[in-house]
Amino acid sequence: MNLILLGPPGAGKGTQAKRLEERYGIVQISTGDMLRAEVTAGSEVGREAKAVMEAGQLVSDAILIRMLGNRLAQADAAGGVILDGFPRTVPQAMALDDLFASRGLALDAVIELKVDDAALVERIAGRFTCAKCGAGYHDQFHQPRVGGVCDVCGSTEFTRRADDNRETVAARLAAYHRQTAPILPHYAASGQLRSVDGMAPIDAVTASLVALLDPLRAARA
Ligand code: ADP
Ligand code: ADP
Ligand code: ZN
Repeated sequence: MNLILLGPPGAGKGTQAKRLEERYGIVQISTGDMLRAEVTAGSEVGREAKAVMEAGQLVSDAILIRMLGNRLAQADAAGGVILDGFPRTVPQAMALDDLFASRGLALDAVIELKVDDAALVERIAGRFTCAKCGAGYHDQFHQPRVGGVCDVCGSTEFTRRADDNRETVAARLAAYHRQTAPILPHYAASGQLRSVDGMAPIDAVTASLVALLDPLRAARA
């Protein structure tokens, strides 16, 4: 199954993508995680992307389209993917259509997670991540079961993203509304767009996604 999870920063794309990965045996492709790895590695792409990301703006389409093309060419992508953070512009959405067509892949659904801007600011301000395994947490909404210890891997080290601050959030939300929301009609027109209420608690959002995706998977089998 090949899916796109769309939604503004903080909507819960990463959180839900990790859960869907296991259930449907598909791999999460997070372009934000890929870019952060490039920044950490100090690669040419990372050096170009760092300041843009810290300002809450979008990295160039050329870089992202090349990055996604390379990622889809890796063996594990053939078993199904869940795209988290791509496409984010109309040119990226068009390029994705071509990438899928050239690899003979079909897009099963585009799922929009709908969340109000005010809730997004709270979610982003409280977000933190396990430094070792990348599991996501929140100061109020999703604390580790044992304080200071990752549920998944037991690590006691956590990180916060450089761009997860109240100043940058406004720029990221503006980028979403101006550059990413315009791709929704593209997928509405092709009949692939589904919307899910992302304001509900994490488990309830997962339940809505499963209710939508289980029938799609059954129809494919
Ligand atoms: P995205 O990948 O869309 O930017 P995340 O999955 O990282 O979003 O979620 C942003 C923050 O909000 C994280 O700290 C996460 O734990 C928390 N979160 C995710 N989904 C929900 C939800 N349904 N209700 C409350 N908090 C949530
Ligand atoms: P969030 O879901 O919280 O907005 P991401 O981890 O998806 O964050 O992305 C972090 C940053 O990486 C974005 O603000 C942007 O600068 C850059 N980025 C990620 N994906 C893309 C993309 N498809 N196109 C352009 N920039 C991207
Ligand atoms: Zn961990």
